[in-house]
Amino acid sequence: MARNYPIEKVRDIGIIAHIDAGKTTVTERILFYTGVSHKIGEVHEGDTVMDWMEQERERGITITSAATTCFWIPTYRDGDKDFEHRINIIDTPGHIDFTVEVKRSLRVLDGAVVVFDGVAGVEPQSETNWHYADEYKVPRICFINKLDRTGASLEKSFQSILDRLTPNAILLQIPIGLEGAFEGVIDLLTMKAYRFEGKLGENVIEEEIPENLKKEATERRHTLIEKIVEGDDALMDIYLGGKEPDLQSLKKALRRATIDNTIVPVLCGSALKNKGVQLVLDAILDYLPAPSDLPPTKGLNPKTHKDEERRPDDNEPLAALAFKIATDPFVGTLTFFRIYSGTMKRGSYVMNTTKGSKERISRILRMHANHREEAEEIYAGDLGALVGLKDTTTGDTLADPDHQLVLERITFPEPVISVRIEPKTKVDQEKMGVALKRLSDEDPTFKISGDPDTGETIISGMGELHLEIIVDRMKREFKVGANVGRPQVAYRETIKSTAEAEGKYIRQSGGRGQYGHVWLRVEPLERSKGFEFVSAIKGGIIPQEYIPAVEKGIREAISKGILAGYPLVDIKATLYDGSFHDVDSSEIAFKIAAAMAFQEGSRRAKLVLLEPIMKVQVIAPPDFLGDVTGDISSKRGKIKSMDERGNIRVVDANVPLAEMFGYSTNLRSMTQGRGSFNMEFSHYEEVPQNVATDIIEGKKQ
Ligand code: GDP
Repeated sequence: MARNYPIEKVRDIGIIAHIDAGKTTVTERILFYTGVSHKIGEVHEGDTVMDWMEQERERGITITSAATTCFWIPTYRDGDKDFEHRINIIDTPGHIDFTVEVKRSLRVLDGAVVVFDGVAGVEPQSETNWHYADEYKVPRICFINKLDRTGASLEKSFQSILDRLTPNAILLQIPIGLEGAFEGVIDLLTMKAYRFEGKLGENVIEEEIPENLKKEATERRHTLIEKIVEGDDALMDIYLGGKEPDLQSLKKALRRATIDNTIVPVLCGSALKNKGVQLVLDAILDYLPAPSDLPPTKGLNPKTHKDEERRPDDNEPLAALAFKIATDPFVGTLTFFRIYSGTMKRGSYVMNTTKGSKERISRILRMHANHREEAEEIYAGDLGALVGLKDTTTGDTLADPDHQLVLERITFPEPVISVRIEPKTKVDQEKMGVALKRLSDEDPTFKISGDPDTGETIISGMGELHLEIIVDRMKREFKVGANVGRPQVAYRETIKSTAEAEGKYIRQSGGRGQYGHVWLRVEPLERSKGFEFVSAIKGGIIPQEYIPAVEKGIREAISKGILAGYPLVDIKATLYDGSFHDVDSSEIAFKIAAAMAFQEGSRRAKLVLLEPIMKVQVIAPPDFLGDVTGDISSKRGKIKSMDERGNIRVVDANVPLAEMFGYSTNLRSMTQGRGSFNMEFSHYEEVPQNVATDIIEGKKQ
């Protein structure tokens, strides 16, 4: 079986937006137009449009899938299948507490359409997501939506992109009219006007630019072309020679620049009023990369521990990444994956190289807007969902068993907040275990642990809202009755200097004794480096068989904490000396000795407490600015910047999470309901001494 779409005709993209900017509406329109175009391409029926709409109304368009496949033939190709592309849309969530989900999707998509509200322009969350996309070097196009709304301004929205996101943005279109008079768009490359007719704007009409906009369009085109030729020597020569490069060359150069992230094309329209979305689809094909445009994927060969590369090619060994686990009411657990190289076949075995276990590929599904399709094979650059995997969780690699590779993991921040939950009855207790396991399989930022002292269950996550949603799902979907405690900050402990310590666990009074003896050095590591263990033992001073026990002893001590019972982080422990006894030494003796040495060493190395610091952005009218900033300062917060945005003020600050509980109520009363805020985890910082003492003592009571 061969693939229907060459890899050059595949796009793996996401639609990213601030909540309410119109992501759902844009996606619905995309699925509608692509559904129509695909059907027209297949059957050439005049009334397909209406059929499709009727069916969709009955079923409700499914756009909740983690990856939805659709097909698009560029406008003005008259349903010619040769030009048809496959577009896989990877879902990205809107709410700030789920930016980690955005990150997860950015890892597997190749390009993104960023949607803005044409009245509000760049909003706080667009900034956060934009920076994540920078981190993953994701090529982007922008779509300024809602130009039909009162107060919409292409100019202001575009300027806010330039000021706050990137100076590389450039207008590819301008609107015909605005607000109530918004009619269509002008494409500055083709220098044509486009209107959208039919019930849902499905008929795209190309026409001459209206007389009154010709001057503006010509000037804007000038800027656009200068920007494009800047990055292309050959085109620059033509341009400097007084000629204009042809359309195809300009498009090609713009495509290259967009993929290189040196230009971000900006489009505009109104999804709700059915204007402009088809041109966004054209732009996805024209300017966003195919999987084959990207460099090979890197990974680690688990056998040789060397880096290896895989090209996006069907004939390379299989390397795929599981990026989302979802529960489907009809088929059970779905594992969404992206193939970076090779081909995955139904009925074959693959290796989960992250876990070291084999998985059988029993069913491969492709999710479409209104149906799912069983696939026999799925190829490099494509996405799909697997049914019935046993062991695979988010971030795992699935690879050819004969050519194993572990792809770079998606890194997730550690949870910063936790609550205790207590099942109401014995039955609830059993159900709770199943529910929590299922929810944590789906969500890598949600962790479950037990309090060793009380046996209670503790759940941890990225914010109050995150945990509230999880508890709510547990109650609603899994019908678990439970009492939930107050949220607690996930503090950490760490050391500030280097120290050495000895640990001896020796019991030799008759019979077989115990003998474990180690010397450890502990050193601080950079923030978020976690824990590192090194054995520098030479010449069998301690036999090799006991060394894993030493590491285990240290890890246990780390998880228990020393100062106030919080786990230690960012620490390196080196085992460099010790001794053993032929008869009395045992793993357990070395484990205990190592834990003792580690605790002693850490105490000598200036133990401190760390707390999560949140990046907080508050938006409020100017009248309340003083109260808002005063309150942030009283919360040990540091104000980073204050901006004016029209007639509101935006305050960016870093504030300890411990001070932010209940802030939404607090802010509401402080601003008479007119302020809003969002926050996300930024980093861990040392807790000031006076505060730390309270925490440590509180904990010790
Ligand atoms: P999401 O939260 O980003 O998914 O945004 P939605 O697509 O749900 O849109 C949020 C609100 O804005 C809804 O009430 C939409 O009907 C409305 N909306 C979306 N696109 C447009 C548009 O182009 N113009 C106008 N006036 N409203 C829009």
